[in-house]
Amino acid sequence: MAQAVKPIETIGVLTSGGDAPGMNAAIRAVTRKALKNGMKVMGIDKGYQGLLAKEIRELTAKEVSDSIQRGGTILKTARSEEFRTEAGRKKAAGILGELGIDAIVVIGGDGSYRGALGLSHEGIGVVGLPGTIDLDIACTEYTIGFDTAVNTAMEAIDKIRDTSSSHERCSRVEVMGRAAGYIALWCGIASGAEEILLPERYDYNEQEIINHIIETRKLGKTHFLLVNAEGIGHSVSMARRIEAATGMETRATILGYMQRGGSPTCKDRVYASIMGAYAADLLHKGIINRVVGYQKGEFTDFDIDEALAMQKTIPDYYVEVATALAR
Ligand code: ADP
Repeated sequence: MAQAVKPIETIGVLTSGGDAPGMNAAIRAVTRKALKNGMKVMGIDKGYQGLLAKEIRELTAKEVSDSIQRGGTILKTARSEEFRTEAGRKKAAGILGELGIDAIVVIGGDGSYRGALGLSHEGIGVVGLPGTIDLDIACTEYTIGFDTAVNTAMEAIDKIRDTSSSHERCSRVEVMGRAAGYIALWCGIASGAEEILLPERYDYNEQEIINHIIETRKLGKTHFLLVNAEGIGHSVSMARRIEAATGMETRATILGYMQRGGSPTCKDRVYASIMGAYAADLLHKGIINRVVGYQKGEFTDFDIDEALAMQKTIPDYYVEVATALAR
């Protein structure tokens, strides 16, 4: 475990990459716990891009008030090509050094962690907090925003299901997740979908899905729900093919960015608060280059390079259960 060479007096906090509900609860917790620990806190706007542009201001306890219930991120977020280069990260480390910022808390996904690891090589202490609606960070069973996103998507799917049932339609609903199928898997189980298509298991058979619809319609089933992750793609064209092959009216709905927004759920507010405070405590103890996670009912932390080397897979048993209960 890496230890800072001198006590950490000033920390920075930023949100980076895709935004996620609950990021504000994390920013608030980092800020207030660090202040309680006697540290000074600087808010860096717009992720690494804002860091390179010196969009940095001091955060007080008041500054983060009235934010825990808000979606999005009060610090804004962005992506930065310059920060991907070593020269960009050296420049960023120089800016942090000039402002007397010893370490930063990075709230974001895998990409943001890679950037943070690069920054740690330039002598800046980092702590990562898992902020992503996709749940695709290997070292943790919880990521900030996932709970809100799946509840938002589930509620939308329930509404689609009502109308699909009235009209005896087949609905195909695309949820977020380009490379990760957790949102689709959870929403699919929670909504009782007949089919759940995941990017991690690109082995579905379209003809088999069509045959299933034809067969079960003969037995009296009047509506169908297929949930797929964004990474599966061609939602609209597949819906058209299903309609042509089965004769059943089939509509595709792409839920899109609504899944990123909204007021965070209680779980996202509470877990993000604990993780944020945990990050401030690590830095207060001089512990750097770690990421905070949640495993087997406990909050914990890992070396950032160790965390980035872990592989996340979809749990087989979830898929088995989803399949067993769907039909
Ligand atoms: P997320 O953190 O949600 O996965 P991105 O992958 O877009 O989002 O990453 C956010 C930012 O982190 C990027 O715009 C870039 O500045 C930085 N970043 C991503 N990957 C790397 C990398 N391999 N090395 C250095 N910086 C990176």
